[in-house]
Amino acid sequence: MPDLFIAGEWTAALDGRLREIRCPADGTLVGAVDEAGPEDASAAIAAARDAFDRGPWPRTPAAERGALLLRVAALLERDKAALARAESLDTGKRLVESEYDLDDIAACFRYFGALTASGGGGRIVDTGGAGTDSRVVYEPVGVCGLITPWNYPLLQAAWKVAPALGAGNAFVLKPSELTPHTAIGLIRLLAEAGLPDGVANLVLGAGPEAGVPLASDPRVDMVSFTGGLVTGRRVMAAAAATVKKVALELGGKNPNIVFADADFDTAVDYALTAVFLHSGQVCSAGARLLVQDELHDRFVDAVVAGARRIRLGGPFDPAARTGPLISAAHRDRVEAYVAAGLAEGAVLRCGGTRPADPALRDGFYYPPTVLDECGPGMSVVRDESFGPVLTVERFRTEDEAVALANDTVYGLAGAVWTQDGERAHRVAARLRAGTVWINDFHPYVPQAEWGGMKQSGFGRELGPSGLAEYQEAKHIWRNLAPRPQGWFS
Ligand code: NAD
Repeated sequence: MPDLFIAGEWTAALDGRLREIRCPADGTLVGAVDEAGPEDASAAIAAARDAFDRGPWPRTPAAERGALLLRVAALLERDKAALARAESLDTGKRLVESEYDLDDIAACFRYFGALTASGGGGRIVDTGGAGTDSRVVYEPVGVCGLITPWNYPLLQAAWKVAPALGAGNAFVLKPSELTPHTAIGLIRLLAEAGLPDGVANLVLGAGPEAGVPLASDPRVDMVSFTGGLVTGRRVMAAAAATVKKVALELGGKNPNIVFADADFDTAVDYALTAVFLHSGQVCSAGARLLVQDELHDRFVDAVVAGARRIRLGGPFDPAARTGPLISAAHRDRVEAYVAAGLAEGAVLRCGGTRPADPALRDGFYYPPTVLDECGPGMSVVRDESFGPVLTVERFRTEDEAVALANDTVYGLAGAVWTQDGERAHRVAARLRAGTVWINDFHPYVPQAEWGGMKQSGFGRELGPSGLAEYQEAKHIWRNLAPRPQGWFS
């Protein structure tokens, strides 16, 4: 069956190109999928435009749209095993992690289903006079271009697709060219749940060919992008010519601040998960460990010991605790980044060379790596590696910790570890990041907004703002007793 979904039909790429998808864990062929070019993207945009302008979906009652999202949640639960397996084959991540992702994805659809069904109706505005009826209603934005990355392929798509549909939009989804299979699975489930033709469209392919049209085409009203900072800037620039609405979820270089009074064992344990989960390929990874001077030596020793124990392996290896990087090119980038850090004076405490284990030879593995004695000016501290690389910096005072933490162009997430509740709140308030964890790392819920400050992007996913992102507020004013005004008489 062909893999592009346009106007309710599964269709092949116009020029017949295919892309092979190989598992990053061992290079096995997962499948070959249609590779869209600009003409395919254009056809998908036309289908979405038609469905939005003439189709029933934007005018379907909110309660029915919400009910469809709830049906999709149930279908995701039904197909959890197959989708989790597909996600692991595309990304190389452990099966158990893909299974957690699938739970979160179903929860996301359930949340936006309930929010959509219970919301709507707009707001009456008190104009101070009895002669007017003034209302604000929330309408869908229109045709949305949804562009997503490879690290959490279906999760990132769900964060956009569920609220876009809940708000009544039509969309064209372009997942990462490296990880297309679960997006295909999701689109099948949307059709099975009864979504009208043309509302959901899928193009697979590379950014410059299949992604650029979603940012630049005048028929697209909004582009929501999750990915790297450099690509995000390009998307924003491409969207500027048609002044479309833009939402950007970009990278992070997230601080994990540990004060000397933190619960030692818990903070060590979480410092490892913060950065090495999914081999660091997490936008909110706690890649910068800021540790109070008096705790530094003991804490870093324990983190290094923990990092050395992390076992690498493929998605179905029950002993593995983390998997490969997504591609050879990405591993090369991570390696270059570590080399730059060492050249700048960082001290290598563990990792730093490709694993010698012959069982890992065919995958893009890179070991958990700790770089100690780093400083805020180093590129290794400033740039996102998106790999299993932890930089360690020391601080003495609370002010110094906050200054170091905020000394980054990014502002996605951060954490503070201390048993002093007042200090925890003071630091949380001063961190310039969209999410702050106190004595924890990584948890999120669909009810709470997710997104970045500074160059981590703008706009929010999840929470009520995640739905509002896909809505336009319209003010409708009705004069109940129109009479000549006489302004010019
Ligand atoms: P990427 O920027 O390389 O690609 C993201 C998507 O953009 C892909 O679908 C790609 O094909 C497409 N693309 C590439 N060039 C394009 C162009 N010129 N126009 C339109 N689309 C284009 O990112 P990636 O390597 O897939 O993902 C990793 C990045 O994503 C990291 O920086 C990570 O921090 C970020 N990320 C952020 C969040 C968040 O919530 N803030 C979540 C996950 C990942």
